[in-house]
Amino acid sequence: MTDKFQGNFTQQEPIPEEAITAALEVLRHGRLHRYNTAPGELSQTALLEQDFAKLTGAKFALSVASGGYALACALRALNVQPGDKVLTNAFTLAPVPGAIASLGAQPIFVDVTETLTIDLDDLERKLPLARVLMLSHMRGHLCDMDRLIALCAAHNVQIIEDCAHTMGATWNGQQSGRQGVIGCYSTQTYKHVNSGEGGFLITDDAEIAARAIMLSGSYMLYERHLAAPGPEVFEQIKYDMPNVSGRMDNLRAAILRPQLAALPEQIKRWNDRYRVVENGLRSTPGLTVIDRDARENYVGSSIQFLLLDWPSPKVQAVLDRCAAAGVELKWFGGAEPSGFTSRYDSWRYAPAQSLPQSDRILAGLLDMRLPLTFTLEDCAQIARIIRTEVSAVFQEA
Ligand SMILES: *Cc1c(COP(=O)(O)O)cnc(C)c1O
Repeated sequence: MTDKFQGNFTQQEPIPEEAITAALEVLRHGRLHRYNTAPGELSQTALLEQDFAKLTGAKFALSVASGGYALACALRALNVQPGDKVLTNAFTLAPVPGAIASLGAQPIFVDVTETLTIDLDDLERKLPLARVLMLSHMRGHLCDMDRLIALCAAHNVQIIEDCAHTMGATWNGQQSGRQGVIGCYSTQTYKHVNSGEGGFLITDDAEIAARAIMLSGSYMLYERHLAAPGPEVFEQIKYDMPNVSGRMDNLRAAILRPQLAALPEQIKRWNDRYRVVENGLRSTPGLTVIDRDARENYVGSSIQFLLLDWPSPKVQAVLDRCAAAGVELKWFGGAEPSGFTSRYDSWRYAPAQSLPQSDRILAGLLDMRLPLTFTLEDCAQIARIIRTEVSAVFQEA
């Protein structure tokens, strides 16, 4: 083996200088708490929310402590109760069913298709079971949102979108997170903007926005929010909302504002890398690339492919050989959950469910991050390595 990749799959780009300068300003004045403002001062957190509402086109935006917090806050804002069933994707990451379980509600999993999106036929069968769907755009794959919206509307099911991997993506030209009642995002290091931890919640519904803001720990300081409904909306709900603190702070907000401004440019860079890897993998024997819907404008911050119906030892052999060549692939079909990767059947706090179709897809699903620290040449080399190793294992007897 001569081709060995030397890059690091978890190394993101440094925080931009402009963001560091903004962060230092906050550190120098010391007013890190979002409601700690000098007379006449608008907090970085409130300004960030205004920026994010503008970017997404939402009426209201709230920044919070994490993406997982945003998801749980969204469920509370929709008044989900302990014992309620909440529909969600079988193929997602642990914070999604975790948010549902944090309210004492029960995740009900919906199958994944070969395009890595929620199976709308399985969803249609399960819609009568719940009044909320927590839809995870896992790894940035958007399902046929037009059909999904119509199905949910017919069953009166409200949609919370988990946009941890679709910040900046669009469906039919509309920002991801704007099709459901509430959109939730993460600003954690591995997502599209990086504040270490953090998240957003957006909505056009004034009462939901007011409920979320109260829930997030705004005390009675909601008038200091700039992307919020008027005080009259808070008057109706302020005595009924528990304070479940999960605020964003001014230091993170200061770091995020320049990154949000640069997001369109970053998306182009991600997609350039994605296309190099995708083209390099196309027509590899035994390997299926994931075709994308023409209505979807995705953010290629990671890439997936299928070794569909391969026996597990062969998939493992591909993983081992790629790892030896410096290419870190994640497998959703491993016997034990590891790293960030776990599967619906390892979330045992949820009622046990059998999803043979999802099992088949996940058993062949490989996943790879594409950090912007990789060059286009790096991406071409990675694709070459995967192609070589998959072909070698595929041809073995
Ligand atoms: C990261 C992530 C979240 C939650 O984000 P945190 O900010 O880490 O809580 C939710 N859903 C998916 C699919 C994610 O990858």
